[in-house]
Amino acid sequence: MKQIRSVAVIGAGIAGLACASTLQAAGLEVKVFEKSRGVGGRMSTRRADGWQCDHGAQYFTASDPAFIDEVQRWLVAGAAAPWPMRLASIGPQRTITMCNGSGRYVGTPRMTSPAAFLAESLSIRLHTTVNTIERRDGLWHLSSLEHGALGHGVDGLVLAAPAPQTAHLARGRGMSFEARIAHATMLPCWAVMAQTNDTDPGFDAAFIEGSPLSWIACNNSKPRRDGQRTWLLHASAPWSQRHLEEPEEIVISELAAVFREITGLSILTRTAHRWRYALGDASLTEGFLFDPDLQVGACGDWAHSNRVQGAWLSGRLLAREILG
Ligand code: FAD
Repeated sequence: MKQIRSVAVIGAGIAGLACASTLQAAGLEVKVFEKSRGVGGRMSTRRADGWQCDHGAQYFTASDPAFIDEVQRWLVAGAAAPWPMRLASIGPQRTITMCNGSGRYVGTPRMTSPAAFLAESLSIRLHTTVNTIERRDGLWHLSSLEHGALGHGVDGLVLAAPAPQTAHLARGRGMSFEARIAHATMLPCWAVMAQTNDTDPGFDAAFIEGSPLSWIACNNSKPRRDGQRTWLLHASAPWSQRHLEEPEEIVISELAAVFREITGLSILTRTAHRWRYALGDASLTEGFLFDPDLQVGACGDWAHSNRVQGAWLSGRLLAREILG
């Protein structure tokens, strides 16, 4: 097998960035391509006139020793901080039980900050949706919707997009793991960002059972957030699946009504975001996929465990496999 010297990484979420920075630290030439206008993927923050809101990942926890060390680096750099929240659990009869909210971290000043921190030392091309990958003469050649062909060929390729998008790119390219990506399904999530009055419902965030909503959180209760008071509402996966193609206004009005009933808060303005691929429901034993003959691998939370920690670990494990 030829030694890998140059690698292209598709996707600048936490998995792609963890993979890219590990490869680059080992001396490989790495280029990351990202379709959005910023890094972080589902660790994301919506910013608008006078308010901001983390509308994807809400927080992360760290239990793996390597990820604990990584989070420590983020804390020292000011890219993350603990979120000392008042956490509640709300039952189907709307009974509110306070729980232990400790051990949870957020990016600071935004959820995108840990990704931005990792991205500082990397070469990343934003606004670049890779739509074709092709192996010719022992090299991977990429092209994108926005720019056409993306430079010269590279020795190795890392696919770090959500499973369905990775499956789409990999289709028909002869990768030994193609069938295994196709098995990884991902569930949707409707998110609503609501600007409210300042009334305190007695908690900062709550898990909700037996309701269209599964999680609500006051974004302003997170460290270093500013702007108008904004609550994030996440619909449950089954509800989101059933209402996936519903118009945004209907989704907003149904979820806002449930939120008002639970918290008693008045909503002033609101916006929605549909995550078509929010959380995976499977994981792979290895935590990543790699085809040594074609020098291509795939990583992401869907390949490891469906959280920020799982995505970071998946990217790092794949990088180590590539480095041999
Ligand atoms: P992603 O973050 O999805 O990154 C993939 C990147 O690939 C994206 O930036 C995408 O734009 C890019 N991409 C895709 N296709 C292409 C292409 N063709 N060309 C170029 N770029 C492409 N985790 C927690 O730990 N705690 C939580 O509280 C939590 N809550 C969540 C709530 C919601 C609503 C969602 C959506 C996720 C939540 N998660 C949570 C999960 C967490 O966000 C993910 O596990 C993690 O961020 C996944 O990282 P990733 O790098 O694997 O994928």
